[in-house]
Amino acid sequence: MSRLPKGSPRPDYAPDTLLVTAGRDPQRFDGFVNVPIVRGSTVLSPTVHDLEHHTGRYSYGRRGNPSVEALETALAELEGGAGVVLTPSGLSAVSTALLAVLQAGDHLLMVDTAYAPTRRVCNEVLRRFNIETTFYDPLIGAGIAALFRPNTRAVFMEAPGSQSFEMQDVPAIVAAAAGREIVTLIDNTWATPLYFRPHDVGVDLSIQAGTKYLGGHSDLNLGTISANERCYRRLRTTHGDLGLTVAPEDAFLAARGLRTLSVRLARHQESALTVARWLAGRPEVLRVLHPALPEDPGHAIWARDFKGASGLFSIVLKPASKPSVDAFLDSLALFGLGYSWGGFESLAIPFDCSTYRSATKWAPGGPAVRLHIGLEDPADLIADLEQGLRQLVPA
Ligand SMILES: *Cc1c(COP(=O)(O)O)cnc(C)c1O
Repeated sequence: MSRLPKGSPRPDYAPDTLLVTAGRDPQRFDGFVNVPIVRGSTVLSPTVHDLEHHTGRYSYGRRGNPSVEALETALAELEGGAGVVLTPSGLSAVSTALLAVLQAGDHLLMVDTAYAPTRRVCNEVLRRFNIETTFYDPLIGAGIAALFRPNTRAVFMEAPGSQSFEMQDVPAIVAAAAGREIVTLIDNTWATPLYFRPHDVGVDLSIQAGTKYLGGHSDLNLGTISANERCYRRLRTTHGDLGLTVAPEDAFLAARGLRTLSVRLARHQESALTVARWLAGRPEVLRVLHPALPEDPGHAIWARDFKGASGLFSIVLKPASKPSVDAFLDSLALFGLGYSWGGFESLAIPFDCSTYRSATKWAPGGPAVRLHIGLEDPADLIADLEQGLRQLVPA
């Protein structure tokens, strides 16, 4: 931060302190606490010499902008990698990371429980460039080695799994890939680098849909990719060659979200656990899918590797008629029906993974609902769910 005398070594700040200090430089902006929103494409050079030798800090809006750079810098400190690039959405962060490390003829291992649109990147986009994908069971752990082929170049993880919340043994998968020409990637949107730092266990590329908790207010789409030394150059080059930029307003909002990420996540975590425990005791509920609950099959791995849990989990209801499950969801006053999550508000969606998973079978034993627990008082959320559950008619 700017208050340190120039050139003095940075102290080793704890994550909560980094959230406050990282990516800010008040002295550079006339004392204003936050890096301002700088709009612009053209950057003028004072002389031809400066133009031709790129002597300025910026050369062109697409290639660097103070608002965007501030967020990249802050996230790089938090992730503990070599550098971060920003993309216009979480999904474009997934596709950009994959395009940075794969080429025609390569083989990709993709977790079967990945965010569903990530599957389309593999099946629709990468396939057209002769990159083959094998989907694997999230519980495979060290067994991933049996799926390696001579042309396997990447293993993509997401933990816990999208919708169904299976944990993955990330260190075991990284260890299996070590010493080979295989890059490891993870979609870390659920935990954020506050609750799990992928680079610390050797993952090469760490992806977040900044749309979710980083933004935190349901008002932007953004993706972030952090790379370690092994992959940063490739990532930065591909990102530049693809011509990706994010709006300075969105970078500003995400940087603003970053300052309060820790306090928001702590409340999401606490309230979600309160609601999850209450749901686990309800007669209408067959199972709660939440790795921070001791009875969850993924709990041991979660407790070993993660520092916390966010506000997103699922429930499986005892068999109930479809109209009555719809009536349950329609009756909720505080839970909005909407995709995405990570904002301050609670959300609910019904889901069914059975139509698209290919390496595993989704047969939970009843209708499934995903919940995002927002920042409302959990007692109000529980009361809302309690009246809603009365709508269910056993099948
Ligand atoms: C939402 C989400 C994404 C995609 O983010 P967008 O900004 O909507 O493109 C990717 N991964 C996970 C796990 C997500 O939840």
